[in-house]
Amino acid sequence: MKSVKRIAVLALAAALLLCCLAGCSQSKGSKLVMATNAAFPPYEFKDDSGNYAGIDVELAQKLAEKLGRELEIADVEFGSIVGGVQTGKYDVGIAGMTVTDERKESVNFSDSYATGVQVVIVKEDSPITSVDDMLSLGSTIGVQQDTTGDIYASDTIENGGFGDDKVTRYKTGADAVQALITGKVDSVIIDNEPAKSFVAANTGLKILDTAYVEEEYAIAVSKDNDELLEKINSAIAEFKQDGTLDGIISKYIPAE
Ligand code: GLN
Repeated sequence: MKSVKRIAVLALAAALLLCCLAGCSQSKGSKLVMATNAAFPPYEFKDDSGNYAGIDVELAQKLAEKLGRELEIADVEFGSIVGGVQTGKYDVGIAGMTVTDERKESVNFSDSYATGVQVVIVKEDSPITSVDDMLSLGSTIGVQQDTTGDIYASDTIENGGFGDDKVTRYKTGADAVQALITGKVDSVIIDNEPAKSFVAANTGLKILDTAYVEEEYAIAVSKDNDELLEKINSAIAEFKQDGTLDGIISKYIPAE
């Protein structure tokens, strides 16, 4: 009986050792898991062959290279990214994500690598020509759930929003735009570059001339991972300096 136990213990120890060796040599720490929501062109989307593409995807690839890790993409709901990064399920959240005070309570943000601004998309023949029209016509708004567009739009009218009852939330930006096309909502509030992509890809849509505050996009990292945050910040600084970042951005956002 004793020797059986001993063999079992030895076998277990050997198995653990093998696991550890395998882990050290290849898989452990070798993946950089990026959480994103890949329906947000030109930052993240699936190209015609079903491959992930976009500014954030290429930035993440460069980042992973720099860190000597292999990039793995988790395509999840936007609203689950911050929580997943916070608990360590994902290493980074790279999703055209705006730095907000509320998100900062849960995760740390890298230095900013891009900016965005919320805009309103309507149908070309819409009676809505301004934000004032949206209010006076009592029009409805589609947003991507948990985004800054959602937060602004569903705020009270006194606070500059349109009231929660006017807002319908969709899982992706693409779904919100689809709802506009099929007449389920009168407008969509979303970041400017995705708005331009959606308007270019669908006939009969236009962007209203409105001015919202500029937002900073940054990479979300767990508060327990300062080492990774520092590495990301030095990579971003380098990519800004050596033209890598501009190169990626101009590939997806042609200069006007
Ligand atoms: N920039 C917006 C936000 O952070 C939208 C991001 C997104 O939909 N991927 O909320």
